[in-house]
Amino acid sequence: ARQFTRPLNDLANQFNVILSAVAGAERVFDIIDEPEEEKDDTSAKSIPSIKGEVEFRSVSFSYQSDVATLKNINFHVNKGETIALVGPTGAGKTTIISLLSKFYEVERGQIFIDNHDITEITQSSLRRQIGVVLQDSFLFNTTVTENIRYGRLDASDEEIVRVAKEANAHSFITDLPNGYDTVLNADGGQISHGQRQLISIARAMLANPAMLILDEATSSIDTITEIKINDALKKLMHGRTSFIIAHRLNTVQRADKILVLEQGEIVEQGNHSQLLNKSGHYAALYHSQLGRTMN
Ligand code: ADP
Repeated sequence: ARQFTRPLNDLANQFNVILSAVAGAERVFDIIDEPEEEKDDTSAKSIPSIKGEVEFRSVSFSYQSDVATLKNINFHVNKGETIALVGPTGAGKTTIISLLSKFYEVERGQIFIDNHDITEITQSSLRRQIGVVLQDSFLFNTTVTENIRYGRLDASDEEIVRVAKEANAHSFITDLPNGYDTVLNADGGQISHGQRQLISIARAMLANPAMLILDEATSSIDTITEIKINDALKKLMHGRTSFIIAHRLNTVQRADKILVLEQGEIVEQGNHSQLLNKSGHYAALYHSQLGRTMN
């Protein structure tokens, strides 16, 4: 699976470094707004509430001036849709997510969110409305309750229990030695990988963002926890525009739109049946690599 779709390593590292540097400060989605990045245009405005319609219009981008990382990317996503990004490592999936989150500035072309050019939206107001669930979910060195509360700092304990239940995390939490008051280590030693994901899903539910970025777990997770994660993700994604770096065939098949990337270009886009019928890149992936590396 790692060969086929590398996890969002770069993005995850950026988010995690930022988070660990300022643990205890503002809510997660403010924290992500780190100072050293691209500055907002002076004309940028805070857009407090987005719906989550997204359009990339002829977007090109390079990390180094002589290498084109993304070439003429065009796609449109309606509010609430699920978009699966597939393609080999290095194809540009993470870069698309990074541009959408304003980690880098678009070189050519434009990105629109609800018909606002992204350059006119401040980073902080944008990222406050993007929830992130990565496969190596970040935990703070504090109680389960406080870990979930980072999604929205003014949430009451009752709300935290409510989202934990919705995220299928309540039962394992109450089984911990001190329940919701159990102090977790940042490395999550006492709880499983899957349980960390459930906590981060509960955190995202509490934050209630219009858009989501999901990096599906590749590590082996027991079947029961996996069912719980899938169910919780389904609830989380409902009504939110969700971009998934997908590792599982099930997820890709269910997506409203699949973007197939190769060497910085979208070589095909459509849903599963449309793309299978084309007998092109996706069909080839599906029959070879996808079929073997995804379950
Ligand atoms: P994917 O997520 O599909 O594996 P990426 O978007 O991470 O692909 O990478 C696309 C290309 O950009 C790759 O060739 C990668 O090596 C390069 N790249 C990614 N991040 C950086 C960076 N911060 N600096 C320079 N090159 C990068």
